Amino acid sequence: MSDFFIDIIDDDGADQGQEAEVVSGSSSTWKIAIIDDEESIHQVTRLALSSMVILGRPIEFLSAYSAKEGFELLSSDDEIAVVLLDVVMENPEAGLQLARRIRQELGNHNTQIILRTGQPGYAPEEVVITEYEINDYKTKSELTRTKLFSTIYTSLRTYQHLVAMEQSKLGLQKIIDSSASLFQERSIREFSEGALLQINALFNIHSEGIFCISSGPLAGDRDMIVAPLEAEQHRIVAATDIFKSYFGKAIDDIDDITTKQTLHRTLASKEHQFTNKYICLFLNTPSQWEGAIFIKGDIDEERLDYELLSVFAMNVSLGLENTKFFTQLTQMAYYDMLTQFYTRHGVIDRCLNTAVKNGEIFSVCILDIDYFHEVTESLGFEYGNKVLVSFANRIQSILPADSVFARLHSDVFAVVVFDDKPLDMEFIAKQCAEAIHVDGDKLRFGVSVGVSQFLPEDNLSGEELLRQAEIALKLAKEVRRGGGQAFTPSLATESRGRIQLLGELREALASHELVMYLQPKVSLIEEGTVVGFEALVRWPHKEKGMIPPNDFVPVAERSGLYYELDMYVVEACCKILSEHSELTRIAFNLSANSLNRPELVDDLENLLARYGVTHDAIVMEITENSMAKGGIVIDTLERLQSKGWLIHLDDFGTGYSSLSYLLDMPLNAIKIDRSFLLQLHDSDNAAVLLKGIISICKDLDKKVIVEGVETDSQKAFAMDAGADVAQGYLFYKPMKLEEAVDLMKKQS
Ligand code: C2E
Ligand code: CA
Ligand code: CA
Repeated sequence: MSDFFIDIIDDDGADQGQEAEVVSGSSSTWKIAIIDDEESIHQVTRLALSSMVILGRPIEFLSAYSAKEGFELLSSDDEIAVVLLDVVMENPEAGLQLARRIRQELGNHNTQIILRTGQPGYAPEEVVITEYEINDYKTKSELTRTKLFSTIYTSLRTYQHLVAMEQSKLGLQKIIDSSASLFQERSIREFSEGALLQINALFNIHSEGIFCISSGPLAGDRDMIVAPLEAEQHRIVAATDIFKSYFGKAIDDIDDITTKQTLHRTLASKEHQFTNKYICLFLNTPSQWEGAIFIKGDIDEERLDYELLSVFAMNVSLGLENTKFFTQLTQMAYYDMLTQFYTRHGVIDRCLNTAVKNGEIFSVCILDIDYFHEVTESLGFEYGNKVLVSFANRIQSILPADSVFARLHSDVFAVVVFDDKPLDMEFIAKQCAEAIHVDGDKLRFGVSVGVSQFLPEDNLSGEELLRQAEIALKLAKEVRRGGGQAFTPSLATESRGRIQLLGELREALASHELVMYLQPKVSLIEEGTVVGFEALVRWPHKEKGMIPPNDFVPVAERSGLYYELDMYVVEACCKILSEHSELTRIAFNLSANSLNRPELVDDLENLLARYGVTHDAIVMEITENSMAKGGIVIDTLERLQSKGWLIHLDDFGTGYSSLSYLLDMPLNAIKIDRSFLLQLHDSDNAAVLLKGIISICKDLDKKVIVEGVETDSQKAFAMDAGADVAQGYLFYKPMKLEEAVDLMKKQS
């Protein structure tokens, strides 16, 4: 025993040399457990090592006096670096047994076990040392202060190394985990911020600030576009703490020269840079993208795991690459590449929805270039694109700077204007119509404008807002190209009403709810004789009462339902003719568009055949509009006539076609419109003209029908002018089928 003490006291000389290796700077301690049943050993060991600082940390002693106690100590504290373990305690092998339990039961392989024995002669077998993972073996007398120090020092180094390796493994796992979550970030900015946060946490770096740079072109956040940079330049895509103000800037905008130079050096050498003041990690990916992460702070170079940092950097690079693709995809969905405006999706998601949520008052203005398709058709796509770009610039210059601009599709633009005053559409339309310059050409375009103002209480979605403005535009185009139309609540009701009516009309057709009224046509030659009827459709609506054709036929014509309606009417007429032999001739009205349907002739023929109706029992009334469409129409009319169809021209005098053109058409009769008769009062010319027309028709062997005859004088005039047939309230109003049948029964 006494040797032991003397050794420690005598061994001063070596202290200086050992102290030199002491590293300062850390606050935590090394925990060393003394497990020995002799109290004096505890005291001596503490005394020998108490004031020492090894590898930057002071020593903290923990004591146990039996193997049992020792086991409890190690189970409750997993940060014990070294165990100084007595072999003989409760039993001669208590120490060895404890060593085994530490390794096997506690699974602790990092703690360094130094076996100490009092008997110089006692030496455990080598198998025991390896089996129990005993790190060192000393007799108690061997442990002089110097020796004790060097043994502990080596053990601590090993322990530190083992722990670091274990942490590396954990760290690697953490990097993999964190990368997985980073990969879900959809914007470069979010991704980079996440990477910066994690690098500090993962590597325990107490940094003053950290930032991430990325090479261009970077399809990044809109924030970045505020300060456009050269494509090749690198810019800061995320920054924390002291570097925060650098966000969005270029490397050369960094004030600190060392930082700036380090970044340039990192990028030029394509290697990480490490010093005790900063770390600069080089990032790159297979697709030539480059970047860097710069961390400033007191870097503990000893304790930093460089391998892991490199792995991390690689992961961040790949993650950024990934995000870049995401960003590009979003970019394409949200931004129009041609004009850099939002797309339809973009303006709804990024602007309108938020504006609604924030309760803002704003207007949506939709602009449509009139006849733009003619530009692309005649001058090409590329030229058309140039026109669109200058037009985009034009609208940007007219509307307030804080407006949000979008290109909805080809030549249709939307502008969200944050102003509670209504927009001056006339002004906008006029400014847009000013000449624009494309490739040295001076071009002028008319623009249709639809505007719709929104108040928070409207409570509409972005999509609905846009659609309302589009309805306003559609109406503006219907009314007048090159003009504007504001969306008013009544417009909304009107268009909603129209859509509803259309649905109901479809149902009414399917359930045969529409009824035919018949208006007699009267001969002017054999006065008073009914020579036929005109079928006029009516819609007995459950709630709205009898709806006149002028209220729903135009809706059908605009929506494409006209053909179904026409066929419905023809079939109804055929049915009436087949069931009521008293009625010998019925005329029906055909929508202008139906004449363009290639299946028309066959469908009509089939109906006649199905009901056994002859061609001379049915008359088709068409308007001038039908023929203005040209093309196949004349062909169709000729085919119809050759099959025996009777065709009458309706509403004559309301269109603008020349008489000679109309008379060249395969027509059997002309119906002079009511408006002609109304003019007879005011002008002699009208009378002369009408007489002239009638006589030409007669020369060409076409019958003349005068419609809308309400007065005796009108009737007298028609007779005098030589018209054949008259139709009007003076004789009969449109009547129900039964009345028409009764009328004909009386006549025969
Ligand atoms: P339209 O073909 O010119 O039909 C004549 C319209 O003038 C009918 O109105 C008729 O009731 C009305 N009328 C007849 N005599 C007089 C009169 O003396 N004075 C006045 N003020 N009006 C008279 P309705 O039935 O309301 O039909 C209006 C228009 O709706 C028709 O004009 C026609 O263009 C269209 N229409 C009616 N039925 C059908 C149909 O079955 N199919 C298609 N496609 N259009 C139809
Ligand atoms: Ca008619
Ligand atoms: Ca008419």
